[in-house]
Parts: sequence; C-alpha cells; structure tokens
Amino acid sequence: MGNSVFNKKRRGKILSGRYRSSGKLSLELRVDIDGYRPVNKVSGDFFIARGKTRYVGSFISDIAKKPKIKSGNVIFEGKCKFTWNAQFSKIQVKIQRNPKKSTPRKATIQFLSEDGTLGGKYDCNFESNYFRTVQYEQDVEEGVKPFESYDTSSLEGGGPDRRLSVEVAFAEAGIEFQRMPSNIITSHREWEDEELRNLMKEHFSLLKDKPQWKVWLFVADKQERGSGRRGTMLNGEKRPRQGCVVFHNVIRGSKPVALREQLWTYIHELGHCFNLLHSHQKARADPTIMNRPSALSWMTFPEYYPDGSSEYWKKFTFQFDDEEIIHLRHGFRNDVIMGGNDCIGYKLESFDV
Ligand SMILES: [Zn+2]
Repeated sequence: MGNSVFNKKRRGKILSGRYRSSGKLSLELRVDIDGYRPVNKVSGDFFIARGKTRYVGSFISDIAKKPKIKSGNVIFEGKCKFTWNAQFSKIQVKIQRNPKKSTPRKATIQFLSEDGTLGGKYDCNFESNYFRTVQYEQDVEEGVKPFESYDTSSLEGGGPDRRLSVEVAFAEAGIEFQRMPSNIITSHREWEDEELRNLMKEHFSLLKDKPQWKVWLFVADKQERGSGRRGTMLNGEKRPRQGCVVFHNVIRGSKPVALREQLWTYIHELGHCFNLLHSHQKARADPTIMNRPSALSWMTFPEYYPDGSSEYWKKFTFQFDDEEIIHLRHGFRNDVIMGGNDCIGYKLESFDV
C-alpha cells in the first residue's frame, strides 16, 4: 500500500486531509484529491464561536475539472450542495504545494455566487491527513478476550496482505480512531437490549447528550435467548447511533476464521454508528438510494452476498465501498456523527443480525 496515508515519507506531500480556519465563523475543510482512495470531493462544516462553539451547517462539492498548478499552488473549482439554501454555491480552492517546513500547509477557499460575486473566504491551516477523528472507547466484559488484529494473508481473500485492527481498518477509510481508556464490566449471564442501553449510559465515560465524534463498543459474551446475532448497534437515551455491542459467544476463537469474523463484526457495527446501512437495504434510506447487494463492503452480510459467502470472502478487500467512503469522509456532519440525525428512515438495530 505505497499510496496509503500510513506511509510517513509520502504523508507530507499529500494535500488531502482536514484543514481548519479560525475566527468567529470557522470552517473545517476536507480536501480529497490525492492520497489513498481519493474521491475527488471537497466538504466542510461551519461552526460559530459565541461563548461555546456551535455547529452551523455543512457543504459538499465535486471537483469540476482537473486541478491546475499555478505559482506553487494547486487550484481547483467546484459547485456545492449545502445543508441550507446558499447563494454563494461555487468554490475556488487554493492549496500550497510545498509550504516551508516551519509553517502548516494552507488551504484557502473562496465562495462565489453563480455570477461570480465574491462571498466568504476562509484561510485554513492543515490539521491532519485524516478527514475525521473519532474517540473510541472499547469496554470489555470480564473474561472475554477482545479482538486485536487479523492478518489478511492468513486466509484466501482479496486486496493486499496486511494486518488489520479496528484502527487500521478505519484509517484506510480516512477516519482516525483514537483509542480511549477501556473499562472492564462485570460479567453477566445474558444481556438484554434494555440492559445494554443502560450499560452504555453507565460505562461509556465519554457519553453526552449531544452529537459528538465519540463511539462506544462493548465486547460482550452472550445476548439473551442466544439470538445468534454477532452484534447490534445501540441508541442513546435521546440520541441515535452512539455505540454498539459485539457478542463473542457467536464469534469467539483465535483461529483465522474466527479473527476474520471478529474484525468484520466490529467494523460492521461501528459502521452503523456512522449511519451506514446494510448493502442489501440501502433503499431504506431517506432520500432513497439503490440497494447494492453485491457491494464488497463491511456492510454486506457474507451470507446475503449474491454468489454466497465463500465468494464474498474470496473477493472482499476488507474495505467500505466507494459510496460509503464518501459518506464517512464527506457526508453532512449530522448525517454521520454519532448522536446526530436519526438513522435514515428507521432504527438500524431492529434488523441487525
Ligand atoms: Zn448490521
């Protein structure tokens, strides 16, 4: 993966990532034109700092033409879709190619109206090669051995050989997972849904009644009535998608097949926390989109893959599909952030297996 965000040598040359402006109305700008799996989009979230910082709205734009290089800058244009009815919907973005080592790379975004009237302009400093950063708290039921990593070369499969953990799998999608301290939770015979929701309230140290880039995963043993579910997403008391559970009695083991199953389950459930739907149920989104049952994605159930699960595992490259990558990196903030908008259409957990 010479093109990966993990390649430290190349990292400094990659323009893609997250930039931020300061001031009363500030912008988090995400540029996605090079680096690992670029999707040629620019997106951003606006915040207003008045006392405490408040989220205002988001935009997303395709990049219209191939970027130009002029006087040491990469320049490109686009037309945005906003969360509000915006008059200045065109953008011109300028990014320094080779900034001085002592200063952060700068990106400037100029908003314009259709007739070229200048709107807001934001000077943003480079912050990270990741598009979004999430704090990850993984609490573990006493006596259960949580998943650590899976080496994709251990079984026949698609994609390059590599060792994947939760952090690495999300890093490949451009999302940084920062692991927070973990709690051990007293063992329990079987967990009921209601108990799991209360458990999240009690043990998820970072939980707040607001949208935030913080997610909880509980490594549990058994669900009530041995439902056979590998995991489930959890809503908070008032807000959706704040955490999830994985059940190790269904996926336990240290053999490659078990580790692969654990990896899939952890990433799949966390994917729901980012508001991703199952590949065969994408049409339930509002507004609706096409189902993609053949998608080679973490959100595809191997057993529902049209050619069967063994074909799925042969071809799966251990990644989200392109549309999901766009959602994770550039979706409007409240459609993606944990505790944001309610799951599109209905509660995801009700049809999870
Ligand atoms: Zn699911």
